[in-house]
Amino acid sequence: MMTQVVIVGAGPTGATLALLLVKRGITVKLIEASRNFRRVFRGEGLMPSGLDALEQMGLSSMLERIPHRSLDAWEFLIDNNKLFRVDEPMELGGKPTTLVSQQALLGALISEANTYSHFEFMQSAPVQDLLWNEQRVCGVKLGDGRSISADLVIGADGRNSIVRQRANLPLEEQSQSFDILWFKLADSPHFESENVFYSILNGRHAFALFQGSEGNLQVGWALHENALKDWKQVDWPLMLASVSPPWLALHFQENAETIERPVLLSVVVGRCPRWSVPGLLLLGDAAHPMSPIRAQGINMALRDVIVAANYLVPLLREGLGHAAIDANLPQIQAEREPEIVRAQQLQSQEAEMAQLLGKSALMRWVASNFAHILGDRVRSSWLNRQRELRQGVTEVKLIV
Ligand SMILES: Cc1cc2nc3c(=O)[nH]c(=O)nc-3n(C[C@H](O)[C@H](O)[C@H](O)COP(=O)(O)OP(=O)(O)OC[C@H]3O[C@@H](n4cnc5c(N)ncnc54)[C@H](O)[C@@H]3O)c2cc1C
Repeated sequence: MMTQVVIVGAGPTGATLALLLVKRGITVKLIEASRNFRRVFRGEGLMPSGLDALEQMGLSSMLERIPHRSLDAWEFLIDNNKLFRVDEPMELGGKPTTLVSQQALLGALISEANTYSHFEFMQSAPVQDLLWNEQRVCGVKLGDGRSISADLVIGADGRNSIVRQRANLPLEEQSQSFDILWFKLADSPHFESENVFYSILNGRHAFALFQGSEGNLQVGWALHENALKDWKQVDWPLMLASVSPPWLALHFQENAETIERPVLLSVVVGRCPRWSVPGLLLLGDAAHPMSPIRAQGINMALRDVIVAANYLVPLLREGLGHAAIDANLPQIQAEREPEIVRAQQLQSQEAEMAQLLGKSALMRWVASNFAHILGDRVRSSWLNRQRELRQGVTEVKLIV
């Protein structure tokens, strides 16, 4: 019996899983709501664990063909003083964190999948509901009324997943005290020789700055609850310059007209206690929306995909039937959950640290004025936390 998998959402989770499955002879329909991949913002940071996942999937050469840029260092500034810096790659002989154009990556994944006749990409086709056969999901219903049947539905539709809601799989949200305002602006010669990821804390304001995969500068500004409710009225070039060290303030001033209007990106963080019901599995942000801190989401999504493929490919290829598929879905969650729990814990520790410093003028003063003494200590405790955030927590190996 030929089994058909329907994947909802062509983000990093859906697009990579679709390609893995079609390459292994499985019939896949990938359904995407948006008309193109030019979504306002798609995270670009890939940690060594994510790069390794792409390599295992045989996609390293695809990565070489699309816009990407590696990071040279991470640097932390407090009230304009350098607290510490860590060079990339952090591991001897390891891979540096790399910024990869997600729009180009998704396009390339889908072009390759399109070369297989048993793959179909349905774009501009929002899924609205699930189809059920008694207690089992047996397909999806599109916004235009069409029904698509499936032996297995994968919900890869991101942090506000409709599939998750329709399957009655509740999300346990973790309190998240900030959203993000995203800006793009003209490149600075400062980043030509080195691409440094700056984390800048100035007074209560915190933002990150780096050169993206396509060469422009990107700023992610943490928008705390109750702070800057009137962010649309703020003179952003002036605000950014006022909280930056002199070289950067000058760049914001001189390139004020290139600073695009900020986009508000809502941050959702949480986990579903259950990732599956018979006939349906959630993966990636749909199952466990990740915070943007320390670029974890895409990496976790790619590692989810490898584990899911390990379980699903043999069952689907042999046509072992619905009962066998359903019995394996909870095992995929069980294998992935420990790493997700740990990554979210580490992300929230990083957020708490920044919040603590943001709230306490005294701590900031001490950190800023005694950076030369404290820097090394803070640096090594930060480095200790990075190993798992960079390498992952559990072993993930593609075996199919
Ligand atoms: C501000 C910000 C910055 C981030 N930066 C990084 C970073 O640098 N590195 C990193 O690793 N992670 C980052 N993340 C996290 C990362 O974006 C997510 O974890 C990752 O995109 C999850 O991939 P996904 O494929 O599961 O979901 P998504 O990327 O959200 O993809 C879901 C797809 O499903 C589609 N879809 C939604 N609803 C439907 C529907 N009803 N029918 C059909 N299709 C639908 C969407 O259009 C989308 O294409 C960031 C997150 C935020 C908020």
